[in-house]
Amino acid sequence: MPLVHMADMLYHAYENRYAVGAFDVVSLDFISGVMAAAEEKHAPVIISLAESHFEYFDFELLMAAVVRAAERSTIPVAIHLDHGQSIESAVRAVNLGCTGIMVDASNSPLDENIAQTRAVVNMAHACGIPVEGELGYVPGVEGEDAERHPGDIQYTTVDEARRYIDETSADFLAVSIGTVHGRMKGEPKLDIERLAQINQALKLPLVIHGGTGLSVGQYKGLIDNGVTKINYYTALSDAAGRRIKGNVESEANSNYTSHTHGVAEAVQHEAARCIDIWGCTGRAGSLLQSCRPRLPVEHVIFFNTDKLDAAALDDMMSEGRRVLGNIPGVQRVFTGHAVTENSSYRHCWVVRFTACPVIDSYRAHPAHQQFADNRFRPYAGDRLSIDFEECRMQK
Ligand SMILES: [Zn+2]
Repeated sequence: MPLVHMADMLYHAYENRYAVGAFDVVSLDFISGVMAAAEEKHAPVIISLAESHFEYFDFELLMAAVVRAAERSTIPVAIHLDHGQSIESAVRAVNLGCTGIMVDASNSPLDENIAQTRAVVNMAHACGIPVEGELGYVPGVEGEDAERHPGDIQYTTVDEARRYIDETSADFLAVSIGTVHGRMKGEPKLDIERLAQINQALKLPLVIHGGTGLSVGQYKGLIDNGVTKINYYTALSDAAGRRIKGNVESEANSNYTSHTHGVAEAVQHEAARCIDIWGCTGRAGSLLQSCRPRLPVEHVIFFNTDKLDAAALDDMMSEGRRVLGNIPGVQRVFTGHAVTENSSYRHCWVVRFTACPVIDSYRAHPAHQQFADNRFRPYAGDRLSIDFEECRMQK
């Protein structure tokens, strides 16, 4: 039972005072390394894919690998879109299998940040998916991620945080209390007092961006004051880079596989170190007992038609795959014809939803209503429709 509700995961961490690592992955080596670390430590884990990194990898291809890694794991996993830039990318992420979405509008004025977050929350909640918002601004200082986060730090304030959560219904809040994206310069100074006040005011899971480079005591201070998700990338990337550099310097062979050998292990080692420090080691078992699994739903329609010839039928189905496939929460649209001649129903749709709530939001979606009313139902009088939730997997 690998994919779980991210809200269940983070509230378990909130109540039991530990933090789950949200490790940003940029390659298969990162996915393998992070998953191996979580399995080794019996720890829940969040695999995170940052929109600001999309130039490094093909999001759709890497998501397929992440989803598969989650499915075959024995520990609880959530898949998160990190720094989502728009409602369109949030929908795409949900439909490719993300189970949590972060809205990155923290560099906009508060009203705009609230409006953008609210739009993503409406969409994601209708798909049963929680949203992380950010208030205040976590800048970049040094390292490869720094230039992606230009500008000065803006600390999160308690009053704005209260208003932001009230008006957006975001599930988790990323706060700016002194961390930076990329590497710190000098000794990091964290405003723990501010964090404590935000935690008192909101009482919901808090998130830290720029988790690299803090001391064990600082991590403890964060976790004691409501931080349940720590975004972590720079140190993983540095560990992977050091490994490659060492390979290049020591290997006689000059080829891709000898240069990248051992990268997954380097990532695993660093992720495992953090999982220990953040108190996440050994939490998988009790978390799995207390949280709901994420179970997909197959919306199945069998139908016959005597009003469309084969070409018109294929035309309608191909339009349906395109139109319905873009509705939030739709992961896949399969259309098919019966293989045997004497089947009671000759044609089918199988539409995969991320989870049960999509049954209603899909039905009410204007694109679905228009397609069903104008292109499908008038031609398919004889039809049967059933929604199936996946059987709970016993591991
Ligand atoms: Zn970030």
